[in-house]
Amino acid sequence: MAPVDPHSYTDGAHPVTKHAALSFYLDFTVSTIHASALLTLSEPHSGDLLLDTRAVSVHSATTAADPPEPIPFSLAASPDPVLGSALTLTLPPDTTSFRLTFSTSPDASALQWLAPPQTASAQPFVFSQCQSIHARSVFPCHDTPAARITFSLLLNVPSQLSAVAAARHVGRRDPLPSDHCGACDEALWCAPGRVVEEFEMEQPVPPYLFAFAAGGIGSRDLGPRTRVYAEGGDKVLDEAAREFAGVEDMVKVGEDLFGPYEWERFDLLVLPPSFPYGGMENPRMVFLTPTVIKGDASGAQVVAHELAHSWTGNLITNKTNEDFWLNEGFTTYAERRIVEVVQGEERAALNMGIGWRGLNQMMERFKDNMEFTKLKPKMAGIDPDDVYSEVPYEKGFQFLWRIERQIGRPAFDEFIKKYIATFKFQSIDTETFLEFLKANVPGIENQIDLHLWVEGTGIPPDAMEPDSAIYKKICSLAAEFKSGKLPSEDEVADWNGQEWELYLENLPTDVEASQVTALDERYKLSESRDYEVKVAFLQLAIPAGCKCYFNEVEKCLKQVGRMKYLRPLYSSLAKCSGEEKMLAQRIFSEAQEFYHPIARGVAESILSKHS
Ligand SMILES: [Zn+2]
Repeated sequence: MAPVDPHSYTDGAHPVTKHAALSFYLDFTVSTIHASALLTLSEPHSGDLLLDTRAVSVHSATTAADPPEPIPFSLAASPDPVLGSALTLTLPPDTTSFRLTFSTSPDASALQWLAPPQTASAQPFVFSQCQSIHARSVFPCHDTPAARITFSLLLNVPSQLSAVAAARHVGRRDPLPSDHCGACDEALWCAPGRVVEEFEMEQPVPPYLFAFAAGGIGSRDLGPRTRVYAEGGDKVLDEAAREFAGVEDMVKVGEDLFGPYEWERFDLLVLPPSFPYGGMENPRMVFLTPTVIKGDASGAQVVAHELAHSWTGNLITNKTNEDFWLNEGFTTYAERRIVEVVQGEERAALNMGIGWRGLNQMMERFKDNMEFTKLKPKMAGIDPDDVYSEVPYEKGFQFLWRIERQIGRPAFDEFIKKYIATFKFQSIDTETFLEFLKANVPGIENQIDLHLWVEGTGIPPDAMEPDSAIYKKICSLAAEFKSGKLPSEDEVADWNGQEWELYLENLPTDVEASQVTALDERYKLSESRDYEVKVAFLQLAIPAGCKCYFNEVEKCLKQVGRMKYLRPLYSSLAKCSGEEKMLAQRIFSEAQEFYHPIARGVAESILSKHS
């Protein structure tokens, strides 16, 4: 056994899957996919082959021959809590393709099934979120970013629904008897009232970028290669189309900075409020939380981030989760370059300030486990969802910004373009990046302590707090809060959500309850429609002992399942004693059904850590 990734059973001595032909029958009544997968290997193989699965029931394994021959297989009896269950197949000599039939579990960690009352369209809805290691709960695969696949996908859904996927849409049509490939009975597959939506992904992607959704989904065109999809009807679509009107221009900015956009389309899917992330960079179709629609085009920053992934993350992919900073540090850097062009230098510097603040908070969060303040942490036995943090984003950003300051922007721009052109459609590790850096920027290792940046804990001394007038002004206003001074109406007149977020996050943590309520009485932050502001405020109010906001905290935790909000709110409550802790437990028990399984798991682990 030659492991390639601490989060996968993939054996490096064996070939990997390079193409998957998937037929999925979506059964909303039991929250289950009945499926068939024809997997093709990178080269012929005989004997044992290991695939990753989690909570998948495998019904059969057969050769691709006609007639098919059964293939012996075994599924590990007790799943590993992080990895799931290895599926071991014993392939006959020189096997290149084989077929599996299987069903997902209603608890599949990638999938959230929403009943009609939980959706805006009053139709059932399902969506997937496969990062980091959840693709294996949808289909058996080599679930490591080190292995890239192309795929075809048939989604058989009720005809009142439509389906989307992070792939090229081939068409919508009646189901054919030849389609089901053993996923389910032909009678079920071809039943009246069912349609098939067909997709094809010709560009190889890591399995964590496999994504689809189905529900009462409509769309609006934004530009020649951009469209926004959402459920919830015309009003939601109109709002979304307004919010994202500038997306086509943003793609052009990205191309100017980083080279051609390689994915043909850049569509956006706005998900129900339980979507666990701000955005997920699924290629051709970014998945977004509805909380980015704020009516003031400030959602542009999240879109800029997901767009930037089209180059850094999706074109060049981290080889394992230990190299996650290659995805997120580069993307945070690229996002801020796009924001700088689209919204100006001040806005970009403000984002850097928010990031700097976040990075410093992470040092506090991980003070007892500094391994996770490293750019390249050791991840064996660790669930990536448990240690997900801003470190790979913001320390990665700081590292790249440090290199930019050393060699100057023109040289760094040239370096990035060359880096992308050299490694596109590959998965690489940190060492490969460092070798490429040293080869293309001779002597850089004498100017920057690369080892300290990559292997060291904490924030290196040559990291830099951003230099921006508005950022500094906000920080100094926040420092004055301790002595009882609130910012004046004049001072906050042109603040939007990000300025407030930065202000709130820079306030001292040991403030009096009366100061917190005085701030809210003047600026109504607890009622803000902007969740970033509202959550930053509540995060201040909880440890200050302001019980008057329990109601808002509860509403927030029950309305939005984005982990960026669940994490700090549940942590703040659980860290308190008595009433707050009980409140956290009650809210979780009432809200957990509404959360995506990934978010549910994260909230659960916060509560059990502080129980
Ligand atoms: Zn990202």
